[in-house]
Amino acid sequence: MKHDTALDAPVTVLPGVGDKRAQTLKTLGLETVRDVLFSFPRAYKDFQKVVRPHEVEVGVEQLTYGRLTNLHERRISQGRRVIQAQLDGVLGLTWFVHHKGYGSSFLYRKLQKVQDLWVYGSAKPALFGMEMSSPEFFLRAPKLGLMPVYPLVSGVSNAQRIRWIEAALKHVRLLQECLPEPIKGDYPGRIEALRHIHFPPDWSSQARARERLVFEEFFLFLLGLQKGKERKDGIAHKPDDELVKKYLKRLPFELTKGQADALRQVASDMESPWPMRRLIQGDVGSGKTVVAEYSAVKAVASQGQVAMMVPTEVLARQMVGRMKAALEPLGIVVELLIGNMKDKEQERVRTALEAGEVHVVVGTHALITEKVNFRNLTLAIVDEQHRFGVRQRSALLGKGNADLLVMSATPIPRSLALTMYGDLDTTEIRELPAGRQIVDTRLVDPARRHDVYRYVVSRVSHGEQAYVVFPLVEESEHLDAKAAVQEMEELKRGPLSAVRVGLIHGQMGKEKEAVFEAFAAHEIDVLLATTVIEVGMNVPNATVMVIENAERFGLAQLHQLRGRVGRGHKGGICFLLAYNLSEHSRERLEVVRRSNDGFFIAEEDLRLRGPGDLLGIRQWGQPLFRLADLQGDQELLQRAADKVHELLRDDPSLAAYPNLRGELARQTW
Ligand code: ADP
Ligand code: MG
Repeated sequence: MKHDTALDAPVTVLPGVGDKRAQTLKTLGLETVRDVLFSFPRAYKDFQKVVRPHEVEVGVEQLTYGRLTNLHERRISQGRRVIQAQLDGVLGLTWFVHHKGYGSSFLYRKLQKVQDLWVYGSAKPALFGMEMSSPEFFLRAPKLGLMPVYPLVSGVSNAQRIRWIEAALKHVRLLQECLPEPIKGDYPGRIEALRHIHFPPDWSSQARARERLVFEEFFLFLLGLQKGKERKDGIAHKPDDELVKKYLKRLPFELTKGQADALRQVASDMESPWPMRRLIQGDVGSGKTVVAEYSAVKAVASQGQVAMMVPTEVLARQMVGRMKAALEPLGIVVELLIGNMKDKEQERVRTALEAGEVHVVVGTHALITEKVNFRNLTLAIVDEQHRFGVRQRSALLGKGNADLLVMSATPIPRSLALTMYGDLDTTEIRELPAGRQIVDTRLVDPARRHDVYRYVVSRVSHGEQAYVVFPLVEESEHLDAKAAVQEMEELKRGPLSAVRVGLIHGQMGKEKEAVFEAFAAHEIDVLLATTVIEVGMNVPNATVMVIENAERFGLAQLHQLRGRVGRGHKGGICFLLAYNLSEHSRERLEVVRRSNDGFFIAEEDLRLRGPGDLLGIRQWGQPLFRLADLQGDQELLQRAADKVHELLRDDPSLAAYPNLRGELARQTW
């Protein structure tokens, strides 16, 4: 495709872009003219009409024009000045500027030379008439229409971005329509959409252009995910043999219907010659581990190896314990591999993996480092609670031609599931094992905090255990961590002085493990934790949970956390202590208090806080899409998903659509 060259030229062909600026642009992912065309405005300034200064309305951004009068400048503090003026004697204007030294500021001197001024801003009522604070101004009439505003980058002005877009748009005719005609339907063509997203003649053209481009973005993303699925041959594991049957016979309980269905589906996936790509979604406590164990035994029975990746070292240790207990009696060798192990020990496990002497390895990110090699990896299990992205999953898969089983404890709304797991087939385990009780959840006024801790002590005196959870403290937030640790120490000395207390926080190293093990062994009655990383913990004797500053957690997180109590037959109780409770926070916490349906809670969380927060991690907070907004554009996402489905059903290899294949090859998800 030789006429694509102008679009694929480096940004340095654009006016005023040298090597240094190209470097800055590269950090934004802008390397070619095409990239620049596909970097969209974050907003627009409405320069469609000019109002007279006496006509400006309150609270809307408007462009106005008039005579500049009453200009003066005052010093307000060391190095700071305020400049004030009026437009047509009716609209007050104020700017604050930094100016060191004597004499007038640069801005003041500039305005002194001006008779008439164009001003863009939002006015508010002032003592006399209206006033605009720090409005943008123009000495010459700006181009009328909608002016794009691009995301801010240090050292690059919006005006420059506009100039580059103008230059890049000169090549836009070379762009191919990538949507097949029946899918494109009534949407504007790609070229028109690009022109209008950058320089819309009016709002309705902007809306149409945006809709087209959002749809295209979703469509290409989902198509890329789906297409990856039917890519290559997989491994056909054996039907259940003696080893697998022995494992099933040893299970200390009846499988729930959901578990049995999941095992059946996994068996059929693993036995088929196509790669398994399956997501098991099930609320906390629904018994997903059985599915992991079963699939692991099945892989080993076919002479395969298994890698199980979990998000944290604590979970890895706990999981390896459970896997050992379930699999070692069958003669299966299970090992742990985490960063926080002695180098020599890691080396030993890696060597054994390469030699095929270890059958199942449980670990953290440490598993996806280059140093880890398998003799015959045929199953990768990712227990993720949303902490791993698509890329990490594929890194693990790349270590062999493996089947993939992903387990997720937080039910997520369909829109997110599509984007995070669009490449996976989904199984839901809906019911909890029999006898499992709903956790009694209470929203407690901090004034009654002491009653809550008295209650904790009384349950402990009956031989039960409790968790007290503090909001997530990131490893880097030293100050926060310190404050939380201090609070924990106070609890330990005060309300909880009569019981055995253990303390876990993010700044701790290996001792964390020891504390947790002591809790599991009931050498500790109450576990105080600053982190939510232990969400996979399973201590059936723990019946009470207190969540401090509950308003700072995501709803899905709260739901997951409380799932840690009441795992036994006694039922659990969870106190949500919220300080500074706003109406909004109260509404959110009420959702968790009233509902025990993880799916409903997830939908509400998405509605109330948006996708980044729902997942509780930065990775997903940063935009996955250039233009699309997962929350606002759900309908388009669904439409795109349907279209992808139709298209692949009719033409799985996209043979009839070379442009589309070319566009997919360009995507960098
Ligand atoms: P999840 O990982 O889905 O949160 P787990 O697999 O950790 O849940 O299971 C939670 C608890 O329920 C464990 O103690 C497990 O042994 C137990 N369990 C799992 N399946 C059943 C079942 N069918 N009947 C009774 N208990 C079960
Ligand atoms: Mg689990």
